[in-house]
Order: sequence, then structure tokens, then C-alpha cells
Amino acid sequence: MSRRLEPEVVRADFPIFSDPRWRDLIYLDNAATTQKPRQVLEAITEYYSRLNANVHRGVYELSVEATEVYERSRRRVAEFIGARSWREVVFTRGTTESINLVAYAWALRNLRKGDKVVVTEMEHHSNVVPWQLVCSLTGATLSYLPVTDDGYLDLSSLDAHLKGARVFAFTYASNVLGTINPVRELVKAAREHGAVTVVDAAQYVPHAPVNVSDIGCDFLAFSGHKMCGPMGIGVLYGRRELLEEMEPFQGGGEMIREVRFDGSSWNEVPWKFEAGTPNVEGAVGIAAAIDYLSQFGMDQVRSHDLRLTEKALEVLAEVPKIRIVGPESARDRCGLVSFTLADIHPHDLAEFLDRRFRIAVRAGHHCAMPLHTRLGLTATTRASFYLYNSEQEVEVLARALREALSYFRAA
Ligand code: PMP
Repeated sequence: MSRRLEPEVVRADFPIFSDPRWRDLIYLDNAATTQKPRQVLEAITEYYSRLNANVHRGVYELSVEATEVYERSRRRVAEFIGARSWREVVFTRGTTESINLVAYAWALRNLRKGDKVVVTEMEHHSNVVPWQLVCSLTGATLSYLPVTDDGYLDLSSLDAHLKGARVFAFTYASNVLGTINPVRELVKAAREHGAVTVVDAAQYVPHAPVNVSDIGCDFLAFSGHKMCGPMGIGVLYGRRELLEEMEPFQGGGEMIREVRFDGSSWNEVPWKFEAGTPNVEGAVGIAAAIDYLSQFGMDQVRSHDLRLTEKALEVLAEVPKIRIVGPESARDRCGLVSFTLADIHPHDLAEFLDRRFRIAVRAGHHCAMPLHTRLGLTATTRASFYLYNSEQEVEVLARALREALSYFRAA
């Protein structure tokens, strides 16, 4: 039996909301990072208090146990995302490092002048800039699958874009529009064209069930800190055969089998990609976050997000002079809504919401400048939800926006 997701009860698991300064905070910046439950904080403290040693190195009992804890976390992640083997799970610093790993360890070595990399217009900078860098180093070209006016990928031009493509890198869910992309369809199309697929799942894995084996993608990236885990830990899922044939990303301790004066050979996957002392505390924390979310089950987490998104679309649409970007249907969104309000600058609006209503939202380009250019905007305000948010909080947001209109005399 899974635990019932009642936001008011769930909120009590998060120590930050008991802090006298933040007790009344309406935290709607979950797409940037989520708060951390006691269970995750305790797992990290427990690790440092009872099991800390460097991993994979020592032969003494404490180091062996620390190694077991680290590798158990990897198996927990593999199971959570439906990987066929724990060897397909590489620990990184986060989504950004995971994508850079693919760009440098796979693309830089495999792309030639004239090859094509395809991304989409709705990508976060971390799924644009690594490809721009690699294209400039290899002479490959970068093309962008367009976004429609209503915030979806324009699939009518998918085949034309994928023709001759070697890499197709796209987001599972947009951190600005909220759009959930038809990932299976995109992977299938890329396969037919012989392109390697890289899925940025930073905004999706925290919010819904994911099974990488079903999706059939080659790579998939996400971050621990957006799913109740700590910062500085992330995951690159990679299909085993691809990881096996790839050269390392960074060199150093742990990723080698043997180092000679005249060269080196590599450790097995996934350790080949984990140079240096790894973030064991992070691995412990992400596994604890997975355990925490699993009490509710990801279907329930998704239903809760969906309810809040439906509510937000309903009540925000009634605020005068609001422009909501992204799909009209909540079902097509992960749990977030971005908007502009009259001619109020998003930074001024976010400051007003914080000072007057204790609502924390994000304002700016959300690391998606090309998408904002496509939308004809420089910035938006974003409210993003998670399991401790309630419908009531969404209603307060709508009321606050109406007040902002009169405060800024924008009504
Ligand atoms: N992709 C998307 C869609 C994101 O929302 C983010 C975080 N804002 C990232 C990538 C980058 O994640 P991180 O900063 O954890 O590496």
C-alpha cells in the first residue's frame, strides 16, 4: 500500500518549512530545485556518521561497506528508471554534466565535418551549448526542431530535420512551457534515421514514472536536486553497448584498469566514466530521495502535479492581462506554468510576490533564451509545483497576481 499524498502532511517532512523564517513560504520554484525531506537529510547524516570512507579503494571493512552503500544506490537508481543493468547508470554532478559527458565522450569522437546534430527550440541551455561547442570543434552543423505557437514540438518537420542526423537531443519536458514531449515517437523516428538519442529528463523523472528500456533511448539525463535529493549528484543512463564502446570523459583515479608510463587502459562501465572520488553522499541522497518518492509511487506524484497544474491553468486564465505560455491542456504539461502579466517585468513581479505574499517563483529566461526569443519574450514568471504544494497555494498565487495588477497600476 502506498502512502497517501496529502500536501499538508507531506509538508511536515520538510524541515525547511518548520524554520520560523519560512513557515509560511509558498514555495513554487520546484523546477529550479526542490526542498529536501528529513528522510534524505537523515540518510546523508547517517552515511557520514557511520559509514564514511573512500570507496572502491580500501580493503578494510569500513571502506568495503561505504563501497557497498554507493553501489547499492546505483542499483536503486537503475531499478527506478527501468534500466536493464546497474552498469547503465553513471553518476555525474547533474543533468548538465551528463549531457556534456555524451557530447565530449561520444559526439566529439564520432562526429565529422558536415554531420548533423538536431536539438529543439525548447531546450534548456545545458542541452544547447554543449552541442554548439562540439559542433564548432568537429565542423558538424546544429539544427533546431521548431516549436509551434501553442507550445508543442512541430512534428510535421521532424523527418526533414532528422534526415542525415547523427544525434537527436531533446527534452522530455520543457522547463518553461511545461510541454511533455512524445518521447517514444521521437526516439523511434531518430532510430529510423540512425541518430543517437539523448533525452534531457531533468523536468520529467522527478514527476512521473519513467522506464528507459521502454522508451528505447540511447542516453537519458537527470538531476537529484529536482527530486528531493541533494545538489551535485545526477545520473546519465546510457545503453550498455554505447557506454562500452565509448572512450572516457575525464581521466584520473578510479576510471583506469592500469596506468603505465606509456599509456593506460580503462576500468569497466560505469566506473570508466567516474574519475576521481565520487559524490558518495550524493548517491546515498538520491537513493533516499527515490525511496521517499516511492512511498507515494510516481503515479500518485504525477496525479498530484496534474491536479495543481489543472487548477493553475483554470484560476490563472481568469487573471486579466495574463499571457500563459505552453499547452492549454494540463495533461500535456509537467507541473509548471509560465506567464507574463501585463507589462510588469517578471523580476518586479517575482519580488512583489515574495515581499507581499511570501510566494517564491522564478523570473527570467530560465536558461532557455532561444525559446524566449522564439516566443517573442525576454523573460517570464514561472510557478512550478511539487508534492508539498496545495491547491490553496495556487489560489493565493492567482489572488496575488490580481493585486499585482493594481499595485503596478497595470490593470
Ligand atoms: N534541463 C532542464 C530541462 C532543466 O530544467 C535543467 C535545470 N534547470 C537542466 C537541464 C540543468 O540541470 P542541472 O542544473 O541540475 O544540471
